[in-house]
Amino acid sequence: MITRFLNLIRPGKDKKLQMPDITKSEILNAIKRIDDSNLNTAHLTLNSIKNFEIKDDSLTIDIAFPSSGSSIDESAYNKVVDTIKNQFPSLKEIHLNVQTKEPVSSANNTKKEMLPGVKNTIAVASGKGGVGKSTVAVNLAVALAKEGSKVGLIDADIYGPSIPLMLGVNKKPRLFKTDNGTKMEPVESYGLKLISIGFLIDDNDPVIWRGPMASGAIKQFMSDVEWGELDYLIFDMPPGTGDIQLTLVQSIPLTGAVVVTTPQEVSLIDARKALKMFNRVNVPLLGIVENMSYFIAPDTGKRYDIFGDGGGENLSKELDTFFLGGIPIDPRIRKGGDNGVPILYDIPDSDEAKKLLHISRNLVERVRLRNSTSKGKVEILLGDN
Ligand code: ADP
Repeated sequence: MITRFLNLIRPGKDKKLQMPDITKSEILNAIKRIDDSNLNTAHLTLNSIKNFEIKDDSLTIDIAFPSSGSSIDESAYNKVVDTIKNQFPSLKEIHLNVQTKEPVSSANNTKKEMLPGVKNTIAVASGKGGVGKSTVAVNLAVALAKEGSKVGLIDADIYGPSIPLMLGVNKKPRLFKTDNGTKMEPVESYGLKLISIGFLIDDNDPVIWRGPMASGAIKQFMSDVEWGELDYLIFDMPPGTGDIQLTLVQSIPLTGAVVVTTPQEVSLIDARKALKMFNRVNVPLLGIVENMSYFIAPDTGKRYDIFGDGGGENLSKELDTFFLGGIPIDPRIRKGGDNGVPILYDIPDSDEAKKLLHISRNLVERVRLRNSTSKGKVEILLGDN
């Protein structure tokens, strides 16, 4: 075999074993060692290699990188080719094709009727207010869109609809007539399609009024807004686990939920309640995001664990779910929210922006896994707390 010959002339440990082939896993392992935030190599598996062929000294390899949308950039592409060349010098030609994976749809019948062109619906929720749920919802949506997915965002937070401010838009959605009645056109900002409950309710309306209005409005947001084709529709949910939240969760056909928490115990206790709420209504948990994980002092570079350390990750382990990642406290994230310029656009090279991208890629993987393995079954086991 030619591959056997190739391997025999290769230097290194494989010679001793007399193993003939450069195997898929050897190549995979080499690629997985590349340290580049643009390449989400941690999630590559043998299944990510779609085509693998060695002929003479030429390798053709097709890899589906777990990016949510468009292809990897040129420098990341060259990094993969150079790594293979350096580690396997017997290969003189490398043909690398990068495939992008289309998000799999979690279509179910209710969703098909209400949101016919939407592949996945994700609730971003929290057990209590002020933990950065809206910040995470906005930035995840922006990250997914930046990587090439078609993304919509529904601001369902009746207690504080903040998405118009965070995305720098404040206009009423346009209404238009169709054969079946009047429809609403989502507002566009940063490549996202967006609708906010803030467009419909007055800030001074008491919450008791807002509750029933909210679930009615959310239903309308799903059926009467012209979303078109979307890979992801993200819902920024109202914080907490009361009746309003439960009604809302039950009115949306959800692919799954992301729960945002800060690391300290009071927040974790409420996050657990939120997880339990989703469990009760059979919404799969996609993972936990820990916000305000730590603070790096800009003058000294010293890390401060202001709200404690590792709470979100420990909770993920305790509940046997996935830790999507942590986001530090950074005034630039707050400023991005207040000024309507998300950090992923304002300072895309910052560590925080990269962390947000990383979390969005983890989320994409979780959605993919959920869609390929589960038929809506909840994967978590919860205690009584
Ligand atoms: P929630 O939706 O949970 O009520 P928000 O997303 O509105 O919380 O965030 C509350 C406040 O905290 C906002 O002013 C926001 O800009 C700020 N904030 C959120 N996350 C961070 C962070 N990682 N670093 C700095 N400020 C943050």
